[in-house]
Amino acid sequence: MKIYELVIVGAGPAGLTAGIYAARKKIDFIIITKDIGGQTLYSWDIENYIGYQFITGPELVEKFKLHIREFNVDIRENEYVMKVLKDTKNFRLITNKGEYLTKTVIIATGRKPKELGIDNENKFKNRGITYCATCDAPLFRDKVVAVIGGGNAGLDAVLQLSRIAKKIYLIEIKKELTGDRFVIEKIKKIEKVEILTNSQVIEVYGDNFINGIKIKKEEDIIDLRLDGIFVEIGSIPNSEIIDFVEKNENREIIVDCKNNTSFPGIFAAGDVTNVFAKQIIVACGEGAKAAIAVFEYLKYI
Ligand SMILES: Cc1cc2nc3c(=O)[nH]c(=O)nc-3n(C[C@H](O)[C@H](O)[C@H](O)COP(=O)(O)OP(=O)(O)OC[C@H]3O[C@@H](n4cnc5c(N)ncnc54)[C@H](O)[C@@H]3O)c2cc1C
Repeated sequence: MKIYELVIVGAGPAGLTAGIYAARKKIDFIIITKDIGGQTLYSWDIENYIGYQFITGPELVEKFKLHIREFNVDIRENEYVMKVLKDTKNFRLITNKGEYLTKTVIIATGRKPKELGIDNENKFKNRGITYCATCDAPLFRDKVVAVIGGGNAGLDAVLQLSRIAKKIYLIEIKKELTGDRFVIEKIKKIEKVEILTNSQVIEVYGDNFINGIKIKKEEDIIDLRLDGIFVEIGSIPNSEIIDFVEKNENREIIVDCKNNTSFPGIFAAGDVTNVFAKQIIVACGEGAKAAIAVFEYLKYI
């Protein structure tokens, strides 16, 4: 079986940038990924990626794709890694389509949304409960919806829905919304948005599709009749594919400033790691560093 010098797992901002750097260094590598773009595909308006005052996530991903195509990178899309294993001097990657041997790995698998963890959540997934406003907001034209979570992802969902839905409840478990103040001010001015803080979803109900939710607001139980809920309560790292590197209490892979993990030859970059600030520009920088670190590492093995 062929032994690659590097396999990059994931093609979000971190994996794609690592790919561009690896290609320019003439490393023999492939990218294995479920999709191209990662979480950036779900971001509606990006105002903090330098060079673009405003760009949508899908547009930015198109730019990334155009850029990486220049280098003829071998991207195995729609393939996912189930396990990374040690294999004498190399690493063996088991995917849904086959197996690969490689001298080094960059894990750039990012994060996935957290679920509410309440009864009926599975039953109503894609039947009124969604975890992606960018993907599903257009399905709720003139409907009543709730966004659960008042952090930046929740605020982003509210902004998208404000152009589509009839009424939006924004439900936050804490005393205050926690996203950027600038966006909170913008949202407070939108009439069709009703903000409920100190509020927790305790029940989702319906028949085939959801009809409503019950929330506990301090001592009161409030029944909201609605057509859909957007769960935006944070995310967890996609780090379960490897179990021989150190992780922190949030299951993030611990890396040093050169993106080394605790196991030589395994590198990690972006949102799956313990890096401070989960942002596109940070993930790109981390992907670049990881590929340069792999190049240095390969010189000595
Ligand atoms: C709604 C929303 C809005 C956001 N808005 C902004 C913003 O305005 N500005 C900003 O800077 N940041 C924003 N972010 C954060 C930003 O999207 C992330 O920080 C960034 O995408 C992280 O990049 P990443 O490459 O580390 O991971 P991800 O983008 O999560 O990419 C991970 C990649 O790994 C792949 N993958 C996962 N598991 C496997 C596996 N087992 N095998 C193969 N492939 C796998 C995925 O398919 C994906 O391609 C937003 C995030 C969300 C959710």
